[in-house]
Parts: sequence; structure tokens; C-alpha cells
Amino acid sequence: MSVLVVVEREPGGVDELSLQALALARTLAQGASIEALAVTPPSDTVSQGVAATLGEHGVSTLHVAEHAVFGSYAPTAVAQAAVELAERLQPAAIVGAGTERGNEVLAHIAARLDLPLAANCIAAASGDPARVTRLRWGGSLLEEADVHGAPTLLTVAPHLVTAERAPAGEAAVEHFAPTLSEADQLVRVTDRAEDDTAGGVSLADAKVVVSSGRGAGSPEGFGIIEELADLLGGAVGCSRAVTMAGWRPHTDQVGQTGTKIAPDIYIACGISGATQHMAGCKGAKTILAVNTDPQAPILASADYAVIGDLHEVVPAISAELRKARQT
Ligand SMILES: Cc1cc2nc3c(=O)[nH]c(=O)nc-3n(C[C@H](O)[C@H](O)[C@H](O)COP(=O)(O)OP(=O)(O)OC[C@H]3O[C@@H](n4cnc5c(N)ncnc54)[C@H](O)[C@@H]3O)c2cc1C
Repeated sequence: MSVLVVVEREPGGVDELSLQALALARTLAQGASIEALAVTPPSDTVSQGVAATLGEHGVSTLHVAEHAVFGSYAPTAVAQAAVELAERLQPAAIVGAGTERGNEVLAHIAARLDLPLAANCIAAASGDPARVTRLRWGGSLLEEADVHGAPTLLTVAPHLVTAERAPAGEAAVEHFAPTLSEADQLVRVTDRAEDDTAGGVSLADAKVVVSSGRGAGSPEGFGIIEELADLLGGAVGCSRAVTMAGWRPHTDQVGQTGTKIAPDIYIACGISGATQHMAGCKGAKTILAVNTDPQAPILASADYAVIGDLHEVVPAISAELRKARQT
């Protein structure tokens, strides 16, 4: 039996996280064929380069679902195309990248098939039930779980599985037109707006980085972090707990599986200092930690520390900076 992987494309070819999903899919397939699904509007073409890249990563057939709705992101329509294809292929598993889109599409597939979905897996073994290892609680715990039902539905945690090549020759390309109801096409991107927070200083190059973690408490908790970073001409960073909670994008994550930074000063607020986080900021010349816990591991690496609530300490630093600039 095959394994079906829902792949996401990017202008240059195939998204890196989809290649990581293919690597995990191969361990599930145990030599059985890997089939891929990509979607496109009829006016577009899936380049030979995509089929070649997928072939290099073990895909035997790329199934291209064509429909006008795929001119923009349309998660329920992608899910329906995958369900239709799965009825034909009867795969043992359907795998997606653990991106926001991948998780959303696989969740829709799970709802349509009335099956459980294991999100953010880093390892998987086929069987009945299938056994997966997945990240929980912002990466602070690894869970071993049995996933019942067929096909096994899972997404692959970003940047934790290596996208190794496994050449299988160029993937064959088969086109099909999925049958989509109006309801399948209701959820889709209809407009795009420029991100006016983009630009500024890049995290990797910033001389000052102000970061926060679970201690920020919410996406809104980052308002005071952004304000301080702005005053210091720095960039905003965060821990993986934050990106896993969807509070900030992965591009802001500092650490082993995020960006490696080497600023003159790293201000880490409400971050415990897990080894995976410290792996990304050990190049910092000076570390200032703000934490309510005097036993927090980050204090072992910090040059300076303020033991206190970041919601009080950070605005106080900003206020002092403003005052100093007025005099
Ligand atoms: C394979 C793998 C790779 C990983 N890669 C990364 C990575 O690249 N980057 C990364 O960051 N993590 C990574 N992790 C996750 C890492 O192990 C930790 O789980 C994560 O860094 C914890 O994030 P945190 O410090 O924000 O949250 P927590 O560990 O929950 O710590 C929150 C901290 O905030 C403090 N706090 C709470 N409230 C306040 C307040 N009001 N004011 C001040 N302080 C407060 C607490 O005392 C605590 O120290 C990875 C994990 C795995 C397994």
C-alpha cells in the first residue's frame, strides 16, 4: 500500500517542509510507493522541475489536482481533492507538512474521513495502530501515541526531520479534476495585504534582540517586547513555545530549530532557557534575562538578570529609555 503526501509548492519548486514530510513518509511506507498530491489552477503548470525534485525525494507519482479555486489557498478544496484521490489510491497513510496550511488541510481531511489526526510528528512507524512520536506542549515534551484507523493521518513537525534525498527517478505526473461542491470552495483566500511589520532589522543580523517566551502570556503580550525592540533599533525574537502556540511566526524563533543569533545584547524575557533555545543564542555577547523564577535555567548563562514580572519590568525599561532620550 502507498503513502500519500500533500505537498506545498513555492515559486522555486517544492517547499522545504514538504520535503521533510516526504522523508518521514518514506519511513512509514517501508518500501511501498510514495504518491504526492499538488494542486494548481488549470491556467498554471506544474514544472518538470517539481516532478524531478519530488522524484529525488522518493515520489513515484505526482497527482496534480486542477481546479480554478486553486488559484488561491483553499484548504477545504485541497482536502476534498486529497479525499477523492485517497478513495482511488487507498493509501496506508496521508501525510502533510506541519505548516499552518498543512495542519489545516490535514484537519479538514480528518474531519471528512472521521479519523484522528496526529499533528507535529517527528517519527512514525506503520502498523495497526500506527505508532508516532510527536511534539506536545510547545516542544517541551515528546509523546508516543498510537494512531488508530486507516489511513493514518499525520503532519510532520517543521525542521525536526531531515529532508534527505532518496532518488526514485523523475516522478510520473498524472492530472485530475476533482469534483468540488460549492461548499468545498467556500474557504479560500480572496485578498492579500502587505505585512507592514516586515522590513526592519533581520533577526539573524540584529545587534539587539528582544525575545519573549511563554511568559509573554499571549500574542498581545508581545506588544511591550516590540516596543522595547523598536526603541533599541533591534529585532523581536521568541521561543519555540511561542511559535508552537501560533503567537509569532517561525521566522521569529531563536534556537536549534530556529534562527541562530549573535547580537551585542540579547534580552530574553519570560524564557526558561532550554538547551534547544540556548543553542540559538549562545553567540550573543551579553544576555539580560527577565524572569519571575530565580531558578530558571537561563540565569546560568545570563550576564545580567532581573527577577520580576516582564509585564512590569519591560515597560519600565522602555520608560527609562524614553526619559533618558528626552534629557
Ligand atoms: C527537538 C526540539 C527542538 C527544539 N527547538 C527549539 C528552538 O529552536 N527554540 C526554542 O526556544 N525551543 C526549542 N525547543 C523547545 C524547548 O525545549 C523549550 O520547550 C522551549 O524553549 C520553552 O519555551 P519557553 O522558555 O518560552 O517556555 P517555558 O519553558 O514554559 O518557560 C517560560 C518561562 O517564563 C517565565 N515566566 C512566566 N511568566 C513570566 C512573567 N510574567 N515574567 C517573567 N517571566 C515569566 C517562567 O519562569 C519560565 O522560566 C525544542 C524542543 C525540541 C524537543
